[in-house]
Amino acid sequence: GLTSGDELTIGVLEGDGIGPEIVPATTRVTELALDAVGITPIWVRLPIGRAAIEKVGDPIPESTLHALDELDLWILGPHDSANYPAQWRGRLTPGAVIRKRYDLYANIRPAFAFGGTHPTVADMDLVVVRENSEGLYADRNMARGSGEFMPTPDVALAVGLITRAASERIAHRAFELARRRRRRVTVVHKANVLTMTTGLFRDVCREVAAQYPDVQVDEQHVDAMAALLVRRGGDFDVVVTENLFGDILSDLAAELAGSLGIAASINASDSVAMAQAAHGAAPDIAGLGVANPVALMASTAMLLDWSAHRHGDQRHADAAQRLRGAVGAVLSSGVCTRDLGGGVGTDDFTDAVAQHLTGG
Ligand code: ATP
Ligand code: MG
Repeated sequence: GLTSGDELTIGVLEGDGIGPEIVPATTRVTELALDAVGITPIWVRLPIGRAAIEKVGDPIPESTLHALDELDLWILGPHDSANYPAQWRGRLTPGAVIRKRYDLYANIRPAFAFGGTHPTVADMDLVVVRENSEGLYADRNMARGSGEFMPTPDVALAVGLITRAASERIAHRAFELARRRRRRVTVVHKANVLTMTTGLFRDVCREVAAQYPDVQVDEQHVDAMAALLVRRGGDFDVVVTENLFGDILSDLAAELAGSLGIAASINASDSVAMAQAAHGAAPDIAGLGVANPVALMASTAMLLDWSAHRHGDQRHADAAQRLRGAVGAVLSSGVCTRDLGGGVGTDDFTDAVAQHLTGG
């Protein structure tokens, strides 16, 4: 039941906390952006998180997963799994279940300054391409039988997993992306210390780089890279790295570009992609009508870009551009939510974006 012709089918998972506020805000303006290019979105709303626990007794029900099997584009709201009833704590979070089941190995996280924000590095315009299935992250590694363990109560160990296959596929994503941007890739590793693991990652990236002679490539150690992002973050285009380094560097870059609170991302495999804001469920402000929907709107614009590429339909990219443009224009006009120093709530902000999209 994938996307065809003038329709675009997108799964919608509201999630917890501010999810029920920012997800409907996002689908509303995305629908307008798609309408403007002659495409009708079909929203497939699926329960996940606390709502799914209450409805079906499971935060990530089989019925939701079966429905996702039929889709290739999803919007995932945040989840607040630390506050689920006891029996669900300590298990894989709904997001992790989905990442693993669909092998969403590429976490794509741009960092650029939206107008109206106050960036530390004003000319930042980069994309972190983060390997999302290996490295040191236990929840991502569990399926392969590794992760963290404690041989005694006073000793803890973590295994970092790097494979040629996973490094190769993420490197290809980075170089392909660079061809659609400024044709520069920075490979980030720590091969002077983590010689075997991040050394393998670096070596595989070098091999892949040889297949993209039109893309300029350089390498940085992760510690030097953190400093360079602050000093001259505007110099970077595509940054490819392993899981943990990518997690940290993408937060750093997003904050330097303005605000982590408006940072977008998608998680993708070769065949499916999921929009997911970088921030969490924000339970402290849930239900107050003040949540900022920008991160999820910008993530959904990325999802439409991915769809344009995957389905070969330029209109999806045009809709993405309209959506990003409308959000940027509203922010530039000084209209923003509390977290960005403004005074409007979620609904008023979304109204402003909607008005911009409909030419009002
Ligand atoms: P997680 O572990 O799920 O990533 P977290 O501990 O990083 O969660 P968040 O849920 O991201 O925490 O919230 C951190 C702070 O940022 C909170 O004060 C929250 O209210 C605020 N915040 C996060 N997202 C938004 C948003 N979209 N709009 C406004 N404020 C937000
Ligand atoms: Mg967080």
